[in-house]
Amino acid sequence: MTYTSFLIKYAEIAIKGKNRYVFEDALIKQMRYALKKVEGEFEVSKTQGRVHVECLSEYDYDEVVEALSRVFGITGICPVVHVKDEGFDKLAEDVIRYLEDEYKVKPICSGADISESTGKDISENIGENDKKLTFKVNCRRARKNYPMDSQEVNMAMGERILDAFPDMKVDVHNPEVLLTIEIRDECIYIYSKVIPGPGGMPVGTGGKAMLLLSGGIDSPVAGYMIAKRGVKLDAVYFHAPPYTSERAKQKVVDLARLVARYSGPIHLHVINFTDIQLEIYEKCPHDELTIIMRRYMMRIAEHIAGESECLGLITGESLGQVASQTMQSLAATNEVCTMPVYRPLIGFDKNEIIKISEKIDTYETSILPFEDCCTIFVAKHPVTKPNVNIIKRSETRLTETIDELFRKAIETDEVIVVS
Ligand code: ATP
Ligand code: MG
Repeated sequence: MTYTSFLIKYAEIAIKGKNRYVFEDALIKQMRYALKKVEGEFEVSKTQGRVHVECLSEYDYDEVVEALSRVFGITGICPVVHVKDEGFDKLAEDVIRYLEDEYKVKPICSGADISESTGKDISENIGENDKKLTFKVNCRRARKNYPMDSQEVNMAMGERILDAFPDMKVDVHNPEVLLTIEIRDECIYIYSKVIPGPGGMPVGTGGKAMLLLSGGIDSPVAGYMIAKRGVKLDAVYFHAPPYTSERAKQKVVDLARLVARYSGPIHLHVINFTDIQLEIYEKCPHDELTIIMRRYMMRIAEHIAGESECLGLITGESLGQVASQTMQSLAATNEVCTMPVYRPLIGFDKNEIIKISEKIDTYETSILPFEDCCTIFVAKHPVTKPNVNIIKRSETRLTETIDELFRKAIETDEVIVVS
């Protein structure tokens, strides 16, 4: 069966009034961006208050569904069959063929044994324990001069379906198949399947934030989660050549690209952090290295975020995961920022984070074994309950050099646009 278009469902609770237009426009923009990478010609439009994708050329169904499944704001994707209006009898024939194809139900005239059904999903249950596939017809008339009203179409089509399929029955309250017949000016739409979308809010409706992106498992997931709430992402990666390699940097670029499939293009700032790290290593107590280093990462990230019109920072920190992520350590890290720091993984266990990274396809890249600058200059016994005043006192040892190193680090900013 050929689907000519896709009807896009989105949650409407949060988007009453003026916000609705902002939401829909951002959704359409993100859908167009997602479909750019799919071969074929598509038109994304809003008509009669609903968002559709019209397929104007040959296309690969799975590719389209996969691309749309990454657009935040979409709650459901309905593949639609278009048929010409050539009278009710012809429409009934089209609907019966549609149900046959879509649910592998056998019409009475074919005489086939229903238990031989090869259908998937709910159709697999048909024939088992005499279970019947339940349905309800839902007619919508955008074209009001159609000779029957919606209720008449519902009743008459329901009868035709019951006559055709002995293994279907009506359930108006909780049907397995909610068959929508939408009578429009140019043709009639038939649809019933809803492929779940990712939910969330369209990227662009919630401002922009700067993701501290390392090569690990957590930070790409953190970026994904905040993008899901409608926030556009920029990212910053601190590398420490020659202690960290080009391949480690490439891994971060690759991760940014994977996150960008959901978030849209990301400006990835790559900052050379080596001199600051060496200076901290030389001057500060080694058990405080990680905390002091993280404080400088946050300071630089906040600086770049401010210049990029970001409204917050995002990290992949999770409470208690490592020494630098205890309450005391996070307090010490946070203390250098005035910008809000979003830590969407704060209450997650590692295995919960891994599950999401597998779902969004970043896991395999994240576990590639390249070094990270945090792990190279690491103390054997880092403080787990740093005292901010003591940390501040240690940082005074950097007073003479750090401003210059900070300025130089920012000058190394290499911006890679990842899409
Ligand atoms: P991840 O899996 O994200 O690397 P992690 O468990 O290794 O997390 P840390 O190394 O302590 O945690 O880093 C905590 C957070 O700090 C990361 O999630 C990330 O947001 C940020 N971060 C750490 N290292 C870097 C880096 N080299 N460049 C940019 N951000 C970093
Ligand atoms: Mg890390």
